[in-house]
Amino acid sequence: MREPRYRRLFGALIFFIVCALAAASPGAGQKVDGPHTLIVPESVFDAAGGELRQGWAVLVAGNRIESVGPVEELEMPAGLRRIELPGATLLPGLIDAHSHLFLHPYDETLWDDQVLKESRAYRTLMAGVNAERNLLAGFTLLRDLGSEGAGWADLGVRDAIADGLIPGPRMLTATLAIAATASYAPGPRGWDPDLHLPPGAQMVTGETEIRRAVREQAGHGADVIKVYADFRRAVGTAPTFTLAELEALVDEATAAGLPVAAHASSPEGMRRSVLAGARTIEHGSGGTPEVFRLMAERGVVLYPTLAASAAYDEYFSGRDGGWELDTPEAFLSPRIARSLAAVRDAIDAGALVGLGSDVGVFPHGEIWRELAWLVRAGLTPVQALQAATIVNARALGLEGEVGEIWQGALADLVAVDGDPTAGIEAIRDVVFVMKDGRVYLEP
Ligand SMILES: [Zn+2]
Repeated sequence: MREPRYRRLFGALIFFIVCALAAASPGAGQKVDGPHTLIVPESVFDAAGGELRQGWAVLVAGNRIESVGPVEELEMPAGLRRIELPGATLLPGLIDAHSHLFLHPYDETLWDDQVLKESRAYRTLMAGVNAERNLLAGFTLLRDLGSEGAGWADLGVRDAIADGLIPGPRMLTATLAIAATASYAPGPRGWDPDLHLPPGAQMVTGETEIRRAVREQAGHGADVIKVYADFRRAVGTAPTFTLAELEALVDEATAAGLPVAAHASSPEGMRRSVLAGARTIEHGSGGTPEVFRLMAERGVVLYPTLAASAAYDEYFSGRDGGWELDTPEAFLSPRIARSLAAVRDAIDAGALVGLGSDVGVFPHGEIWRELAWLVRAGLTPVQALQAATIVNARALGLEGEVGEIWQGALADLVAVDGDPTAGIEAIRDVVFVMKDGRVYLEP
């Protein structure tokens, strides 16, 4: 009987915080023996309030935030290490709820060639490098939605990071992901049907096979079940699973204590996923106001993967050059325009929009692009920062642990030069990264 490492880690952390809260008197910081670090930035981003706190500092003890507030009011233990970050904004560690560490941009190598020609060893080592790139760019937690043909290797990368073998963000991993038979790449069209290609996801049909796949993935240690609820078919992008199949998938995942993330961009694929109980919709570019209202009613979060849409069209449109963040609306590609409109429709319907970028389609270490595209879609810079912090923490069931700078939370902290609430581009200039109380980047 071996619990997945992630569960053991978070189980232990939750136990720790419960004990710490029980021992603390209201308003008092929890006292931890051992090294303390005081971080003194220009300002601290209050993700819940959506405001900057000038003159605040954060005291870290071990892997937790011991206290946060005006620097002159913090109780300073002896032997303190002080990190000064003048001119910088301190943020909660950023969270991307849709990454692919095992993919790299398709203008470097086409998806088919990555999956069919790159060895698993090569892809796994590259995933480790990609993990560090994203960490140093300020992302301290990634939900990695499918190893895309690399089997169970994402579990090894997750555990190597958790054990401190290699630097990287905290990882929530999906393993193989689940798709309907002959409804995910490679192919099936364009390939000899007699070829048995290694699949980019676990292909299943019917409730029995679906339950078996969920049990296998959960049993091997997946943190989330990813399902491809629609795919390109003869009629265009259309559902591949029946509602009953998706209900069986969510039922089995729920029994294993796992949430379901549904790849869907057709209205019916999205609708079935939401009705079945998926917690997040990935892409969602074809969402109608009705579907977004349904998502709002059920608290389902949209991850619009805007930066990936822009990258796809840059690679495959045949147009010379890509689309910039300031490209006028009339000159945007139909795909990008549709994805941006979906974000606006989702917000109008009251649905939550989080930060899920599909990084891997575009370069690792550049997830900032998704925040910039969210602002282009109509979010304020503060809302984009909230999408990458508190909204995602809540969507992933980790509220209170990550996504906010507050007493008792995990010490995942990132600083950028300047003020990203005034101009989101500042999110690119990461000058400080701490994860779990350990400093990975400092001036
Ligand atoms: Zn993806």
